[in-house]
Amino acid sequence: PRIAVLGAGAMGSRIGAHLFEAGYAVVLYDSWKDHVAEIQRNGLRIVHEHSARTLRIKAASRPLPGEVYDYVLLLTKSGQTDEALSGFRDIIGTDTHVVSLQNGIAGIEILPRYIPKERILAGVTTYSSDLLGPGAVQIGGSGITYLSRLTGGSSPAVDLLEATFNAAGFQTVVSEDAMQMIWEKLAFNASINPVTALTRLNAGEAGTHPLGIELMSSIVGEVAAVGHRLGINVRTDEVMNQLRRACEPEACGDHLPSMLQDVLKGRMTEIEALNGAVIRLAGDFGMDLPYNRALYRMVKMLDEIKGT
Ligand code: NAD
Repeated sequence: PRIAVLGAGAMGSRIGAHLFEAGYAVVLYDSWKDHVAEIQRNGLRIVHEHSARTLRIKAASRPLPGEVYDYVLLLTKSGQTDEALSGFRDIIGTDTHVVSLQNGIAGIEILPRYIPKERILAGVTTYSSDLLGPGAVQIGGSGITYLSRLTGGSSPAVDLLEATFNAAGFQTVVSEDAMQMIWEKLAFNASINPVTALTRLNAGEAGTHPLGIELMSSIVGEVAAVGHRLGINVRTDEVMNQLRRACEPEACGDHLPSMLQDVLKGRMTEIEALNGAVIRLAGDFGMDLPYNRALYRMVKMLDEIKGT
């Protein structure tokens, strides 16, 4: 299949690189001109542990004339989705499937405005990556990626993407229940991210402290309550177990969750797509989420005063 990555930052470059190395035709699209120019001039540099490799992968900062793709892998930050989909609408044809592996639910709230639901695939991944600078990413993390159709069930397009990701070394499975998967990841991220971003503790420090666990459990409970009102079975025990595993000091406890990294680097966070989105949905049901609201407001202040 012909594949485009839209938003070729940390994760987009990583996924694009693996697909490219497995022999697939991939184009990296990104509006960040210096990054694209560096990839065009010197290649994409992938740093992994103590080694590095450079890939001569195609990159562009605007749609290439006449090119449409079987899959557009959407990997901008959630808050950049609208702008990316309107700026790059020409790469999306009538048969293109758009695949969001973004965190939060803003992606799946926004996508149906641009693409019929039948051609939207959503997923979550435990792989991770960091942007080192223009043209360079550091890859880490491993695990599993879950993919699902927004309308549920299976289709040749989702099966082909599953096979393609697996062939590229990304362990991937198709999940039947996208909404449960996305909401449980949302509960996970809406708790670990603001708690570490505001305390500036790493995952192991915040996630093993009794007060950190209590706070995260309160946030997860609120997110689950909103999910339940929408008919989605968000399993709080399962999310708390995932958090415990992610925060085990000997496993990956020194990890800095992405929102903490954003705050440390003075970048805008994804708070709107996480706690912000949950608070808005809760408002539709007249529900108040005091823990989410308090953390949301504090991170929002950081975004508005320090974020770029
Ligand atoms: P990132 O900021 O490194 O990459 C986003 C890229 O999108 C940037 O290169 C940016 O220039 C580009 N972009 C912004 N606006 C654009 C536009 N209008 N048109 C085209 N390109 C545009 O972010 P990331 O860390 O790769 O995260 C991407 C998504 O993946 C987020 O939703 C994040 O939560 C999720 N995610 C990240 C990781 C990780 O380890 N980095 C892991 C799992 C999920």
